[in-house]
Amino acid sequence: MNILFENSDTYLLNVFLAYFCFSIYFKFLEKETSKFTSTLVITLVCGVFTIFCMSFPITIFKGNLIDFRQVPLIVGALYGGRKVALILTGILLGYRLYLGIPNFHIAFLLYSSICVLLFLVIPFFRKIECLKRKLLTAASTSVVSALITSIAVPLLSPAVFTLDYLMFIVSVVILQTVGVLFFVLVNEKAKKNKILSNEIKKLEKLKTVSTIAASISHEVRNPLTVTKGFLQMLREPNLSDKDKKFYINTALEALEKAESTITDYLTFAKPSLGNIEILDLHRQLISLKNFIEPYAAMNNVVIEMKLEEDVYIAGEKEKVHQCLINILKNGIEAMPQGGKLKISLNRLGNEATVTISDTGIGMNKEQLERLGTPFFTTKDIGTGLGTMVVYSVVKSMGGNITIDSKPDKGTRFSVILPVAQYSDL
Ligand code: ADP
Ligand code: MG
Repeated sequence: MNILFENSDTYLLNVFLAYFCFSIYFKFLEKETSKFTSTLVITLVCGVFTIFCMSFPITIFKGNLIDFRQVPLIVGALYGGRKVALILTGILLGYRLYLGIPNFHIAFLLYSSICVLLFLVIPFFRKIECLKRKLLTAASTSVVSALITSIAVPLLSPAVFTLDYLMFIVSVVILQTVGVLFFVLVNEKAKKNKILSNEIKKLEKLKTVSTIAASISHEVRNPLTVTKGFLQMLREPNLSDKDKKFYINTALEALEKAESTITDYLTFAKPSLGNIEILDLHRQLISLKNFIEPYAAMNNVVIEMKLEEDVYIAGEKEKVHQCLINILKNGIEAMPQGGKLKISLNRLGNEATVTISDTGIGMNKEQLERLGTPFFTTKDIGTGLGTMVVYSVVKSMGGNITIDSKPDKGTRFSVILPVAQYSDL
């Protein structure tokens, strides 16, 4: 038992290192990451932890070392899968070879058998839904692999079977199993929290959507009533051509407004269709410019473009268009006396930045704070849905928005989006 207490500082160091490595892993677990990234993260975290454990072992007898290397091996394999189990075993054996510890062949046999054990347990562990059974499986795996090691350790360096040695083996089995159980428990809790927070987000959105739905009927009914009125007036037999034209134009304008309100609402409310494609931002921005040009010309706005080429993002084309059109439209509408609308596209590292700046009326601090909340509008015929759509689309793509605005000087919207990765293709 003395040995255990003599080594308490090494235990604490190991616990600290485990906490450090796994807290990095849990930070990643909170984010939406692809399967490849999460496998990479768990391999790296467990690999580094294995090397840490082996670098700070606990000495029991002369030349006879024991450490907690099996904790990251088991946890990493159970959550990362068979490939991770193989890589971690490779790291472990490779580092052992590097340290120059003798009897490599016995260690090779020992860890090959543990690897086989993990290969058998992994598919079973993955299917389990119940937390208690998951913990039980992880604990049994840890006990069996610790027992395999405790049989092999005396073979590596024939130690005397003293009471101390047996006590040590028992404590290693217990401590290692407690370590494995702790990480499985925390991992399961973190996964559950992530599912819960996703559910809450969905509920929040549903709440906003239903509030908006109620008000939208009002937003749509108004223009429809206007259209209906003008269509009825068109029935008059003695109308002049000028009046007819005026009625038709007003009715069409009202319909367009209703249409744009519905489009904005649907872009926000529709669940993602998942039609993700690789978009060439350079090309998309040129086609958006052509689309918005007549509207800009009508408002005496000149569009200037400065676009970098070969910038690709992964996203839904309609949503990206809707989002950028809303910003462009707001820019044009902010310049009732005409002005300049600049569109630029730059790539910096893994980020694509679309900057849209106008020389319009700008916004004060209070307006900036309210931007993006439903129904905030300063326009007579505004809906206050445009920027909400912008925020929701950019957020769903893992991007970010920064806004600089000065009253009477202008506004600059910067939409920062992650560029398409090889795995998106
Ligand atoms: P809407 O355009 O229908 O009013 P938005 O959500 O698109 O709704 O915009 C909300 C409000 O934000 C606008 O009414 C306007 O006051 C302000 N805003 C948005 N973009 C700009 C801009 N580029 N310059 C000045 N004000 C802006
Ligand atoms: Mg708008």
